Amino acid sequence: MTTVSLGMPTPRSAPQVGPVALPSDRPATSGLVDTFGRVATDLRVSLTDRCNLRCTYCMPAEGLPALPKDSVMTREEIVRLVGIATRDLGVRQVRFTGGEPLLRRDLVDIVRDCGALPHRPELSLTTNAVGLESRAGALRDAGLDRVNVSLDTLDPDTFATLARRPFLERTLAGIDAAAAVFDLVKINAVLVRGVNLDHAADLLTWCLGHGFELRFIEQMPLDADHSWDRAAMVTAAEVRDQLGERFVLEPDEEPRDGAPAERFVVRARTGARDRLGRVGIIASVTEPFCADCRRTRLTAEGGVRDCLFAHSETDLLGPLRAGAGDDVLADLWRRAMWGKQAGHGMTDTGFGEGFTQPERTMSTIGG
Ligand code: SAM
Ligand code: SF4
Repeated sequence: MTTVSLGMPTPRSAPQVGPVALPSDRPATSGLVDTFGRVATDLRVSLTDRCNLRCTYCMPAEGLPALPKDSVMTREEIVRLVGIATRDLGVRQVRFTGGEPLLRRDLVDIVRDCGALPHRPELSLTTNAVGLESRAGALRDAGLDRVNVSLDTLDPDTFATLARRPFLERTLAGIDAAAAVFDLVKINAVLVRGVNLDHAADLLTWCLGHGFELRFIEQMPLDADHSWDRAAMVTAAEVRDQLGERFVLEPDEEPRDGAPAERFVVRARTGARDRLGRVGIIASVTEPFCADCRRTRLTAEGGVRDCLFAHSETDLLGPLRAGAGDDVLADLWRRAMWGKQAGHGMTDTGFGEGFTQPERTMSTIGG
């Protein structure tokens, strides 16, 4: 297996361009199956490691050293790998992320090219929405299906504290523009104790009022500052309690179908308990959904990661640049996913025995 170390930037080992031996006990399926029988159909592609915010739970205040430009996948390389994933490997959904994907000048072109693939996947984007105002329409016209925007608070000072940039207005303008052209806008929020935990219900009220589906994500140990603390993190149970003070949350009857978020129907506490909308909670740490995980990931440098918490990657970009054919790249990807671990290894109380935080942080993996 072409496994690379995760220093930044990533040194590449000699690329494999010839036939790939798949494990003999692997079933002869074309899809991205692992030893636990899970099949990955959902691809996250990181388009860049760079970002214009410095969210405390993700990046250090001073930022991270940028990857050399030539080690980041080009538009053509991204489209080729997405093409292999959708045509040969059974991938059905592709989400572009980063870093901040809007920082790629060719984002609209990447979306258009992926939307024109013969086995067109559902295309979505995760973004902080800074700059989305001027590009939402072009992205929709290029074929983007859905947008998730990260927004942790509606308070400008708290936003500036969490993102270390005073850009709330710009994010809100981006959300407005997205809402004008996309049927469904989802909002992602991370809650941090002592900073925005008590903003959760206000954020939900605002999202319900605008028809946005809000999802709270438990903070994971993927921050550059290594400040994550299991005892201090806001758990899914606390989020439910916090929201329960203002709303009634009922488990959603609709099948979860591999989605990471547990969804709830939100009703008013008073009167006829009108249905107000939905909310999701992604309890990656306290109620992990690893057994039903359908994800595969590509870093901006073209490395396959089978999990956010993986400690190794399989380089596809080196072989691709060295002339490997689609069949070789597909088999490298299959072999990488076959080795996926059962779970991330965190326990109820903190890091499990042997759990170490991956060297890569959220912004360099692609959340
Ligand atoms: N820059 C874009 C954004 O913020 O939406 C895309 C990349 S960001 C890494 C993707 C998602 O990861 C965001 O919703 C962000 O809130 C989330 N995220 C970042 N660091 C996290 C952490 N340590 N734990 C949980 N979620 C995190
Ligand atoms: Fe940038 Fe997104 Fe990380 Fe915030 S969460 S620093 S916006 S990559």
